[in-house]
Amino acid sequence: MTNTDFSTNETPNYKLKEEYGEMTEKLTDHYKQIIKGLGEDVNREGIIKTPERVAKAMQFVTQGYDQDAVAILKSALFHEDHSEMIVVKDIEIYSLCEHHMLPFFGRAHVAYIPKGKITGLSKIARVVDVFARRLQVQERLTCQIRDAINEALDPLGVAVIVEAKHLCMMMRGVQKQNSATTTSAFVGEFEKQTTRAEFLNLVSSKLS
Ligand code: ZN
Repeated sequence: MTNTDFSTNETPNYKLKEEYGEMTEKLTDHYKQIIKGLGEDVNREGIIKTPERVAKAMQFVTQGYDQDAVAILKSALFHEDHSEMIVVKDIEIYSLCEHHMLPFFGRAHVAYIPKGKITGLSKIARVVDVFARRLQVQERLTCQIRDAINEALDPLGVAVIVEAKHLCMMMRGVQKQNSATTTSAFVGEFEKQTTRAEFLNLVSSKLS
């Protein structure tokens, strides 16, 4: 956290890269070139600090690379005989598509059936952020959330649904303004029709 004033207005929970200062400088130079290449005057008053702002913003939204989802889940592990489905709905997702580096955003619904171990509910949301805050594709994001929970908790099953809108589709190319993409990943008990149906029913009011 040295050599940076970046953390002051941001979520305090997240550890920042130690090399933040040095890397920010390098990225700032690169963004200056990019903005110039796009046809802008980088010395214009409103733009002059933009390369540095973009560098810091991009480092923030890709900080998931430095975070360990399994360790986060294990940091709040409790022994519990409860073996009913635990569902966390409507977790906000903000990520960047790895093909265009434009945002995709939406919601994740996560469920698991514990086998003696549960984790703090907020940790599930943290894990979603860990994988969303990097260059992604929605399909892999969905599977990585499932796999981290499966590895850390060794539960009877995990289910993840992600529904998101992709700015690379909305702003360019096909320009489909209202299309949302839904992806899902299941393991264990959720591979059974009845368990999966119960989960889908619990979150279905949120699905279009
Ligand atoms: Zn894209």
